[in-house]
Amino acid sequence: MYFTNKIRKPIIRWLEDNRGLVVLFFCLPASFIFDLVLRFKVWLQRSLSNVPETHQQRVAEIQKQVAKWNKEDTRQRKLLCTSRPNWLSLSLTFFPKDNCHKVPINLYSILELDEKNLTVKVEPMVTVGEITKYLIPRGYTLAVTLEIADATLGGLAMGVGMTTYSHKVGLYQEAIQSYEVVLGDGSLVTATRNNEYSDLYHALPWSHGSLGFLTALDLQIIPVKPYIHMKYIPVKGQKKYCDTIRELSGANDKDRELDDFVEATIYSKDEAVIMIGNFADLPPITQWGKINNLARWYKPWFYCHVKTFLEKGEREEYIPLRQYLLRHNRSIFWVVEDMIPFGNEPWFRYLFGWLLPPKPAFLKFTTTPGIRAMTFTKQVFQDIVLPINQLEDQINISEKLFDTYPILVYPCRVYDHGDHMGQLRKPRPDQMVPGANYGMFNDLGVYGVPGPVKRKEKYDAVQKMRAMEKFTRDVGGYPFLYADIFMNRKEFEEMFDLTLYEKVRRKYHAEGAFPHLFDKVRPEIDVFEVGKQYIDPL
Ligand SMILES: Cc1cc2nc3c(=O)[nH]c(=O)nc-3n(C[C@H](O)[C@H](O)[C@H](O)COP(=O)(O)OP(=O)(O)OC[C@H]3O[C@@H](n4cnc5c(N)ncnc54)[C@H](O)[C@@H]3O)c2cc1C
Repeated sequence: MYFTNKIRKPIIRWLEDNRGLVVLFFCLPASFIFDLVLRFKVWLQRSLSNVPETHQQRVAEIQKQVAKWNKEDTRQRKLLCTSRPNWLSLSLTFFPKDNCHKVPINLYSILELDEKNLTVKVEPMVTVGEITKYLIPRGYTLAVTLEIADATLGGLAMGVGMTTYSHKVGLYQEAIQSYEVVLGDGSLVTATRNNEYSDLYHALPWSHGSLGFLTALDLQIIPVKPYIHMKYIPVKGQKKYCDTIRELSGANDKDRELDDFVEATIYSKDEAVIMIGNFADLPPITQWGKINNLARWYKPWFYCHVKTFLEKGEREEYIPLRQYLLRHNRSIFWVVEDMIPFGNEPWFRYLFGWLLPPKPAFLKFTTTPGIRAMTFTKQVFQDIVLPINQLEDQINISEKLFDTYPILVYPCRVYDHGDHMGQLRKPRPDQMVPGANYGMFNDLGVYGVPGPVKRKEKYDAVQKMRAMEKFTRDVGGYPFLYADIFMNRKEFEEMFDLTLYEKVRRKYHAEGAFPHLFDKVRPEIDVFEVGKQYIDPL
């Protein structure tokens, strides 16, 4: 053991110190080939099953499998889950699917666009990349989407989604008109806000596939224009930028005329760039110099481009809509910087920028238990829904615990749905926007290597994450459950209200058929034990 550690540590240290080269010469080419193979496989799979007319037939096949499972001996059969491999999903955890009875959900079609009611009906495996490609040329986009092309619309529905439009419409779940679900007894139901399955409708978001198999969903869409007119507003001083974000998000005044998109990137405790975007037509020829095709491979990473406005001052530009929607895709927000520290250098972008981003599926596919342990002990990866009236506290505690920048802020409404809040709790009175039926929250996105880890100091990731979770519970917030959680069941139930969820589980045959939400989202490894082993610097 002593001997293995003696060899292992310097190797890990060397890989750490030279990670940019390792990623460039091994990871990126392998990821590129992996992506090509995966694309071919997905293309083949989709060509065989991507036929909207056969939707019912394919759903009937899922029902048949669940019905067959129901006939198995109850003492021996395993709980149900989808057969989608863990490495294909964006979630950071590796739920042990081998302990479950896996059911393939081969549902990849866009089923119907309803321009009259502004909805699109899709199967759950349609990705953000595919739906934007389909909707934008037709003059629409999803009311709530995500900046990562590989995220699936079903995954977002069963988890949670939020974008820079969420200060107008709220979380992804608010833009879902209906869910079509195969239940644990094999029956098929469509749940809407007001029909007989409305209890199920309210419990499905944040349920992570623990209530049934999602087979289709109706999503709200909005009309668009081909460009986004972006204004970059650099702000110095924490109170000033927090106040400006609150003001622009409409947190102070429900009648304020809102910009279409609002987001902020915080570069240090005292510096942020706030971005407001609005749909726009092709600008007049005199303004063409302001068009920025920022998704091109040689262009600076988006957050680095934005950072330049701290020096340059306020500026505006026009971004083609799809490029805006996927603006964080190439550098996966700022996650790629930790893998390739020189990735934003012009020579790298021009020569190798087209290889980015490393495919999340490839990164997960090649994750060994050692890498998995390091990713949660040596990196922070969290999106947390928190009340915007405590934005200063959020930033201060994030700095104290993680000491890493940039930090992402997306303002987002959380509606007060009275007795129909699902797993969330009603926003507290001081979090409500005066006179409105919603509170203003925000996504706090903290991704990166914590300062102490960078400086090779001791770092107790579990203790820090638990402190962040305590803060989140105390202020009435929620972490996105795609990332690792460090709570025990009791703490989890203090944060999330599982009253309706448990009722729905019993009523709709999920009990004994699907894993419980807590078991589905908690890390598959013993984080406390692994955390202890990695406190010391490598
Ligand atoms: C770098 C990064 C940045 C992110 N930033 C944001 C952000 O800014 N805003 C945001 O909203 N989110 C963000 N996310 C999180 C992302 O929204 C989630 O990972 C989300 O769950 C979508 O991922 P997925 O499609 O791979 O879903 P999956 O992980 O595959 O699915 C999510 C859950 O739903 C279940 N599920 C999926 N399909 C079905 C089905 N058909 N039936 C039953 N259960 C099903 C899965 O088992 C799983 O438990 C980010 C993630 C990453 C990695």
